[in-house]
Amino acid sequence: MKIHEYQAKELFRKYKIPVPDGYVAFSVEAAKIIARQLGGFPVVIKAQVHAGGRGKGGGVKIAKSMDEVAKFSRAILGMTLITPQTGTEGRLVKKLLVERALPIEKELYLSILSDRATAKIVIMASVSGGIDIEELAAKAPEEIIKVYIDPLLGIQAYHIRQVAFGLNLPSAVIKQFTGMLKNLYRLFVDYDCLLLEINPLVITAEETVAAIDAKIEIDSNSLFRHKDIMEYRDIDEEDPLEVEASKFNLSYINLDGNVGNIVNGAGLAMATMDLIKIAGAEPANFMDVGGGATAEMVENGLRIILKDKRVKVVLINIFGGILRCDVFAKGIVQAAKKTGINVPVVVRMEGTNVEEGRRILAKSGLNLVTAEDLKDATQKVARLVKGEE
Ligand code: GDP
Ligand code: MN
Repeated sequence: MKIHEYQAKELFRKYKIPVPDGYVAFSVEAAKIIARQLGGFPVVIKAQVHAGGRGKGGGVKIAKSMDEVAKFSRAILGMTLITPQTGTEGRLVKKLLVERALPIEKELYLSILSDRATAKIVIMASVSGGIDIEELAAKAPEEIIKVYIDPLLGIQAYHIRQVAFGLNLPSAVIKQFTGMLKNLYRLFVDYDCLLLEINPLVITAEETVAAIDAKIEIDSNSLFRHKDIMEYRDIDEEDPLEVEASKFNLSYINLDGNVGNIVNGAGLAMATMDLIKIAGAEPANFMDVGGGATAEMVENGLRIILKDKRVKVVLINIFGGILRCDVFAKGIVQAAKKTGINVPVVVRMEGTNVEEGRRILAKSGLNLVTAEDLKDATQKVARLVKGEE
């Protein structure tokens, strides 16, 4: 789960990681009150959305007077902010962060994430802060400092020295940086973070370090033990179809193509996505109805998938184990009768009660394309997408 910058900064304060003074505002009036309380200019007005690159899209402005605070707040609140990370549809801005602007000497990049390949926690840092790390990784990967930490041993003094020397930090800030990095690591572990990123981490004119931006992503599977993070959830920032699917205990993942998928089980889902791509088509999403789905869950799953206007063909790929094929087939028929199916649907179904399941589908009068096996199914899907069938 992603959280907002102002929420990440609340966590930073709790862990004594230096951040500029500031507060979240939901209106222009509130932004002005906060600016007054900050007691001096310039202040920064920042759009709060779950996407980076806000500066480039006009979502971060530095105000030098109260008039500018009002002007920029009015412009940013309610704007549809388009950044390289929002897609062309952009994000509606409903919140602002108003904070004291710091005099920046140097912008650095710092992040902590888990590295699957080594099963370690990795600290990444770079002297080129402010720019996209993806861009830097492509252009000058040698400029990225990477320090790997065994999670069982935790962060040690030499790890921190490696990062500090790599960043060429002035000696005046090393002590402060050391404390900060230890605390960041502690926060990362305590909160089961997937990613913690500060871009830019700045060195100010007064030779102090501060996190000017803050991005945190927390493993959703750990939320049961982080009640404070659960309060941070902002449904407005989530994919509406994913939110709806979660209400029915369905896992729905949005992708970029035009084939809608209903599958049961994560492994089958991955294999299905691969086979669709091999057949020359692109998945638009997948709905994992899980092992123990009921007819209602299947019905809701299909209904949600069909709401995605990009979907040109639906592939249903089910292996009936705990979820029996007849139960599944009833769900499909119910969904089709209630919502209507306006795109071709290819079905590949095997497993428990498969004959009964096939009979239910055949008798339903629905226009379904049945497939012999998975390969046949994905090839039929690809031909339908291309309009060849
Ligand atoms: P992002 O574009 O979504 O990553 O938003 P950031 O919080 O990183 O802000 C974008 C840029 O605005 C930063 O890289 C800085 O150059 C600038 N900026 C943000 N806050 C301050 C500040 O307090 N002082 C100054 N001088 N610049 C700032
Ligand atoms: Mn940033």
